[in-house]
Amino acid sequence: MRTKRTESFDFSSAIERGELTLLSQIRKRAARVSEQVPLGIGDDCALLRLSAGEDLAVTTDLSIAGRHFQLDWHPPESVGHRALARGLSDLAAMGARPLAAFLSLGLPRGLTAGRGRKSAGSSTWVTRFYDGLLALGDAYKTPLAGGDLAESPVALSDIVLAGAVPWGRALVRSAARVGDAIYVTGTLGGAAAGLDRLRELAEAASAARGQVGRTKGLRVSAEMASQLAAHLYPQPRVEQGLWLRRRGLASAAIDISDGLSTDLAHVCEESGVAAEIDGNLLPVHAGASLAQALHGGEDYELLFTAGAKARVPGEIAGVAITRIGRVVRQRAGRAQITLISGREKAALEAHGWEHFS
Ligand SMILES: [Mg+2]
Repeated sequence: MRTKRTESFDFSSAIERGELTLLSQIRKRAARVSEQVPLGIGDDCALLRLSAGEDLAVTTDLSIAGRHFQLDWHPPESVGHRALARGLSDLAAMGARPLAAFLSLGLPRGLTAGRGRKSAGSSTWVTRFYDGLLALGDAYKTPLAGGDLAESPVALSDIVLAGAVPWGRALVRSAARVGDAIYVTGTLGGAAAGLDRLRELAEAASAARGQVGRTKGLRVSAEMASQLAAHLYPQPRVEQGLWLRRRGLASAAIDISDGLSTDLAHVCEESGVAAEIDGNLLPVHAGASLAQALHGGEDYELLFTAGAKARVPGEIAGVAITRIGRVVRQRAGRAQITLISGREKAALEAHGWEHFS
């Protein structure tokens, strides 16, 4: 994979002192050579080191202001964190160990400039974005090994994550078997509930200023951030994915990025099976509704299937594991996913996040 030189972290228009500071800061903060990345930012390509017998796992995600995040609501640290979390979650779902991240950013000029001379390159939107992204990268040993930066009319980030997984051992969506049990990590619906709450707070703040439709930025306090953590700072289940892959316990896996109903449907489709979910077993996040747990996206939990006799523990690396249903045969007239609530059975339509819907 080709990544550009640090020099190519540059803006199409005139370079100001603050921006030069920013570019060298990014390089300094990202340039951590390690066993997995023997050569990072600064040459024509980054070098990633695989062990013998490993496949390279690659995933990419685009986040656009107004579509995937709101400049008025989301703290920049959260936008950076979520961009990386989404990619790490995809690696987790494959049972891959993260190697490195590559980030291309397009930003309006206002987001790279500080307000005062002192703040140039120190506490701008973009440096706070990197604060969030690099902190999560540190936590999961995923260095930033390259990327690009350009001026853009709309803020957007495009992230590529590379990981490694032993040949033929990746967890895939297509291997669920009839009779398997279905499990999820953690709790569901917290991100959707947090997003709703964040929207309410932003609207209330803007109404209080008499500026409906012209929000000027919600100030998210540390207390609010911790209450909304499931949405603002979701934790990718990297360790849980690695654990499942090493133990060979899971038959199929996916991460819940678009909502349980949508992501489970992907597993059913790829595996040629149907599923039954027991509504009473769902680990609904405190403060979230059943609908949010079923359809809310961005929880970044893992959904996996395992043989009925597999000994799946109640917890993996500190995160609860809950059995929520089972894999059944596909049959004409049977819904792809059936939701069981007590004695009632109903078809569960996929209502999660669908891109560009
Ligand atoms: Mg995914």
